[in-house]
Parts: sequence; structure tokens; C-alpha cells
Amino acid sequence: MKLILLGAPGSGKGTMAQKLTAALDIPQISTGDIFRKNLKEETPLGLQVKSIMASGALVPDEITIEIVKNRLAEDDCQKGYILDGFPRSIAQAKALDGFQQVDYAVNLDVDKEVVVKRLSGRRFCPDCSGTYHVSALSDETVCPHCGCKLIIRADDAEETVRERQRVYESTTLPLLEYYDKQGKLLTVDGNGTVEEVYDRILAALK
Ligand code: AMP
Repeated sequence: MKLILLGAPGSGKGTMAQKLTAALDIPQISTGDIFRKNLKEETPLGLQVKSIMASGALVPDEITIEIVKNRLAEDDCQKGYILDGFPRSIAQAKALDGFQQVDYAVNLDVDKEVVVKRLSGRRFCPDCSGTYHVSALSDETVCPHCGCKLIIRADDAEETVRERQRVYESTTLPLLEYYDKQGKLLTVDGNGTVEEVYDRILAALK
């Protein structure tokens, strides 16, 4: 199955992608994780996107599209994938249509207050890319998956979150209509517990 996960920052795309990737045995392709890995390793791409990401703006389409195109051409993506954080603009969606046919775009619809609460308690593992909420951690400094030290993502700072939400509303939200017109949009209530939202996604996909 070839899936896109859509939703505002903090809507739970990463968490749901992590669960779906295990259940469906297809890779999670997170453009945010790819950029963060490059930042951490200080690659030329990482250095190029550092200030863009810190401001909450989007990395230019040409760069992002090229990365996704190459990644989706790899062997492990041939039977399916979950796109988490891509496409984020109409230009990216049109480019994707040029080299891939996705089955569904799942939109996680979440109340604004819930998003703020989720982002302010979010912890990230720079080693395995695991994302957690402090309320679900016995020790909020240690990754329960690999034991590494958890961090607060730089772009979860309040100012940056506000900018990411603004960018989402102006640039990414039009994708809902785009995929609706293609008959591929599945909107799922993203409020509630991880298990509740996950069950709704599975039900919508059936
Ligand atoms: P995320 O982890 O998906 O919230 O992404 C973190 C940051 O990476 C975003 O705020 C952007 O700066 C950048 N980014 C991730 N995905 C994309 C994309 N599809 N297009 C442009 N920039 C992206």
C-alpha cells in the first residue's frame, strides 16, 4: 500500500507512521527525519537546511522532491511506503504524481489545543528517530526503544511552532482538496489516544 499521511504539525503523523510501518511491513519515509539526520551528520544538505528548519519554513521544493524521488526508487519501497511529511505543497504533490501513484492520503484531523499540548510535551530520539510524549514515558530523558538521551526538537520551540502552523495553513492545507478531488482523501479524527487514532486509521483503510 502506498500511503501519504497529512496533518498539521503535532497531529500525530510520525507516531502513526511508526505504528503503520511495523503493521504493514512497508517503510516510513519521513522527510523531516531525513533532514534531521543530515543536520546531525553536518552533511552539505544538513548545513543548507539548518537555518530554514530552525525558522519553521519549508525546505525548497526542488531539494525535497529530488530526495523523495530517489528514496522511493529504492528496492524497499517497491511494494509500498508511508510518506510522513511529504508532500507539503501543491508543487510537491504534482511532482509526486509525476513519478508515483499513491493509493490514499490519510488526513489526521486534530483540534488546535490538542496539537499545542502534544508539541509542548514532545521528546525526540536523535539516534533512532523515535517520537514520544512525556506523559507516556517513565523517564522523560531516555529513549524507551534504544536507551539514548531524548531531546526536545529545536523546531518545537514556541515561535517556530507558530511559524510551522502558519506554513501548514497557507501551503499544506490546500492538499486536502487536491487529494479529495482525486478520490484518495481519507479524513480520520486524530483526537484521542494513540490506540484510538490508530484503530480509526485501520478502519478507514479497510
Ligand atoms: P517534520 O518533522 O515533518 O515536522 O519536518 C520538520 C521540518 O523539516 C519542517 O518544518 C521543514 O522545515 C522540513 N521539511 C520536512 N518535510 C518537508 C517537505 N515535504 N517540504 C519542505 N520542507 C520539509
